[in-house]
Amino acid sequence: MTIEQMKERLQGTLKPKRYIHSLGVCDTAVRLAKLYGADEEKAYLAGLLHDCAKCFDNETQTEMCRKYGVELTEDDILCPPVIHAPLGAAVARAEYGIEDKEILRAIALHTTGGKDMTALDKIIYISDMIEPSREYPGVEELRRAAENGLDSAILLSLRRTLEFNLAKNKIIHPDTITAWNSLIII
Ligand code: FE
Ligand code: FE
Repeated sequence: MTIEQMKERLQGTLKPKRYIHSLGVCDTAVRLAKLYGADEEKAYLAGLLHDCAKCFDNETQTEMCRKYGVELTEDDILCPPVIHAPLGAAVARAEYGIEDKEILRAIALHTTGGKDMTALDKIIYISDMIEPSREYPGVEELRRAAENGLDSAILLSLRRTLEFNLAKNKIIHPDTITAWNSLIII
């Protein structure tokens, strides 16, 4: 499948705002890949496709997980917004022809983060948070942090996620804690 075909398919699947977000993640990821010496082509594809399973409702996502053999943990089921990430990796493979393991892994980890994240995993995670169409309190600080080191930027983002979930009495996906621990002990 060519990039143009991927874009066409993606545009037909995602809501316009989500498609623009995906293009933003794509641009930001390529820029960060240049800055940190990661593979730019992989960053492009992972950025473009990271949310390819996002615009399906929960029921459809669960069904698709079954179809593509994505095994959900108990914690995944308790955190529905996380499911589009591992499912997205399966969809990128089955429907967009992506076979590259590093790209698929970066897509799978983009929402929670995880253990021993690669440079590409980190770039997709942080690009998702800071791409140009993102607007939320503190985004500028995160944008600046991303220029000064991937790990510190991800730790800042994880800290906010953890603090937010604690303050709001929300469930925390264990992979988010794993990502935090994995980076904090370096
Ligand atoms: Fe996402
Ligand atoms: Fe996203």
